[in-house]
Amino acid sequence: AGASASNFIRGIIASDVETGRTRVVVTRFPPEPNGFLHLGHAKSIVLNYELAKEFCGRCNLRLDDTNPAKERVEYIDAIKRDVQWLGFDWAQGLHFASDYFEQLYAWACHLVRIGKAYVDDQSAHDIREGRGTLTSPGRNSPFRDRSVKENAELFARMRAGEFRNGERVLRAKIDMASANVNLRDPVIYRVLNASHPRTGTAWHIYPSYDFAHGQCDAIEGVSHSLCTLEFEDHRPLYDWFLDNLPVPSRPRQYEFARLGITHTVLSKRVLTELVRDGRVAGWDDPRMPTLAGLRRRGVPPEAVRRFICGVGVSKANSMVDDGVLDAAIRNVLNERAPRRLAVLKPLKVTIENYYAGRIEELDAPNHPANPTFGTRVVRFSREVYIEQDDFHEAPSYGFRRLAPGREVRLRYAYLVTCHDVVKDAAGRVVELRCTYDPDSRSGAGGRKVGATIHWVSAVDALPAEVRLYGRLFSAASPSLTDLAADLDPHSLQTLSGCLVERATGSDPHGQALQFERQGYFTHDDDSCPEKLVFNRTASLRESPGK
Ligand code: ATP
Ligand code: MG
Ligand code: MG
Repeated sequence: AGASASNFIRGIIASDVETGRTRVVVTRFPPEPNGFLHLGHAKSIVLNYELAKEFCGRCNLRLDDTNPAKERVEYIDAIKRDVQWLGFDWAQGLHFASDYFEQLYAWACHLVRIGKAYVDDQSAHDIREGRGTLTSPGRNSPFRDRSVKENAELFARMRAGEFRNGERVLRAKIDMASANVNLRDPVIYRVLNASHPRTGTAWHIYPSYDFAHGQCDAIEGVSHSLCTLEFEDHRPLYDWFLDNLPVPSRPRQYEFARLGITHTVLSKRVLTELVRDGRVAGWDDPRMPTLAGLRRRGVPPEAVRRFICGVGVSKANSMVDDGVLDAAIRNVLNERAPRRLAVLKPLKVTIENYYAGRIEELDAPNHPANPTFGTRVVRFSREVYIEQDDFHEAPSYGFRRLAPGREVRLRYAYLVTCHDVVKDAAGRVVELRCTYDPDSRSGAGGRKVGATIHWVSAVDALPAEVRLYGRLFSAASPSLTDLAADLDPHSLQTLSGCLVERATGSDPHGQALQFERQGYFTHDDDSCPEKLVFNRTASLRESPGK
């Protein structure tokens, strides 16, 4: 299942196992609970879990909850739900960085004791200034040479809550002249008087990502700590902490390219903004690239896994065409989705030579290519509805569907011929008067007609709302600074007054359906027997703008 297109990390692990450097392969997926998971996270999940499985090791789910200012229980719950939805679990380990706060604190004290950490009283601004740039070295903080004793006392007071936010930080004492800016005395603890979802108000200081991450890996016995490329420059720091602390194991960090998809933004910061500013209905808006959004749209988790595996893992950042994801979705849905009839923009058709009150039950296969899907009954009557677009009063050359005087087949039913067009006062076509050929019931009457169209009959139709989704962003690479400019104002199209065949009303939530000739649909979370609502998961084939 984990067969990836290419994956250089697999090669590294295989060789570590072969040389005996690694005895048990342990990976982790370490989301920060400051938002919902998106497709980028799916790449990390699939990669970490599948590699652990492949090498008979284990993968931990670790909530990286070191910044209570942005983290919430709601996000922790959503992350767990979405990991499960994607097909993974945490049977092999569910951890929270906050479980290790006491140990991390002890290790920070250790650095203080060996003279490798100091308390800095400078403001965040002065610390940033002092750090220098890529081309200029940093300069030492005036507090860098504090005694071990003074540092130990101040750090203890930081923990005790004696300082205001930002008043003091603990920094590792490494090298302010290092060519790697990350090694210029990075901040490892900051004062933050905030309530933490799990530890409440027990702590007034919180570790930085860099200080927490590798040490958490070491505590959990992680062998291969996989992260995205922007952390490559942090690796020397990751190693420095492990070299200078009495950690129980020696993890190693490897970096891979972030997943990027055209017309999509995979950044929690930006997705948070979209939700906060009401640009979308919520984290699970079906247009969102979040796992919750994809689920709500009806995307099967297997399609996400196949997509991720197909993209592969490399060290070069690149953009994947969003059509690749759509194709993966269609491939899975085509295999799985029972067929149904639904008319999105109904046009009434009266079949004049069909007795009023007569109802015929027709057998329709649920899947044209897979008889194990069985059949269902669709009911035919004098009044049926077809798609407005399937009728042209003055058809252009090449239009082969219904037109005055023309005969087409109604799918699974009869051949019908249009004789009359009824219009309203505004000249709009509101009804067609047709006749049917009683000898042409599906399969019979071998006359060749230009088209077969879908329909629902008045006796078999349920009203529904249908939501069509396009790309959230019109630009291939949306501007992260001016989101509004690149948002497509037409990304959601709501159709009311649609008609779906009766069977659809009792298809369960979560079931993917193909509305024939229309696309793949599923019940929206809002759908209920009193008001059916369907989301279009994907169209039948690639079309410009989706
Ligand atoms: P974002 O920038 O969206 O906030 P993040 O990396 O800060 O993402 P985390 O919750 O810290 O979010 O990420 C958990 C894991 O998912 C990390 O290991 C991270 O590298 C990985 N990850 C996040 N985004 C992507 C992406 N686009 N492609 C691959 N992996 C990703
Ligand atoms: Mg992060
Ligand atoms: Mg982030």
